[in-house]
Amino acid sequence: MRLVVIGSADAYNAAGRGHSCYWLETRAGVWMVDFGATALQGLRRCGLDPGRLEGVVLTHFHGDHIGGLPYLLIDLAFNHDRRHPLSIAGPAGTRCRVEAVCRAAYGEVIDTRLPFVLDFIELPPRGRERLASLNVETWPAEHGSEGHALLLRVEEPGGVALAFTGDTAMVEAIFEAARGAACLVAECTELRAGTPGHCSWEEWRGSLSRVESASVVFTHLSAEVRAKGPRLLDEALGAAGCPPKAVFADDGAVFAWDPPADAGRPPADQRPK
Ligand SMILES: [Zn+2]
Repeated sequence: MRLVVIGSADAYNAAGRGHSCYWLETRAGVWMVDFGATALQGLRRCGLDPGRLEGVVLTHFHGDHIGGLPYLLIDLAFNHDRRHPLSIAGPAGTRCRVEAVCRAAYGEVIDTRLPFVLDFIELPPRGRERLASLNVETWPAEHGSEGHALLLRVEEPGGVALAFTGDTAMVEAIFEAARGAACLVAECTELRAGTPGHCSWEEWRGSLSRVESASVVFTHLSAEVRAKGPRLLDEALGAAGCPPKAVFADDGAVFAWDPPADAGRPPADQRPK
């Protein structure tokens, strides 16, 4: 499993970074988790080919997580001449919301000129689904009032599992989703607790010792968290109960895991400290 952080910012593109979304190279093909408005640009900057995508798994419907889909579809249609289906999985209502967003941007293309099928899969708030041979497990997140935001655990066949919080307040299900995973990709939008529907460093600092994944990558960062993150981690590492396994993401960061013997361990030069 190879994870490329395509974007690591909050909805406001704080510190000039892209919207939070992730490229996953798995034994079940290439997938993305979320596709925000800046995602296609992020793929270009990383030299990654959107034509390789089997599909996209969405955590929720906010624009910084789905707003780039119209651009992905026209790129696949006109620059890649794609013919095989593209899977789009997400919470209940995914088909309706994605079609509305794409139609608003490029209605004629979406309605009449897509040379490939969009294969929509609506994921339950709590359950398991198989996308090709990729296992996806879901838990309800606590984020906003539009639809059912999801926590995800994505597992390649016989291989590595990664957990994603998407956007959420601190909920107990995060720890369940992360248990035994190679990595928890966790939102850490704010420095201090109190913003509804989001996690803060203040909360993570007190909870890191409970996370049973091999590593943690913090993302969806405000400018303040990004600026202070490394020092915050150094302080936490000096505190009792905080395991040395976390890192703050930046755009273009790459992490990789080799199953099965090395599962859960990023290469030495990229290993979170
Ligand atoms: Zn959101």
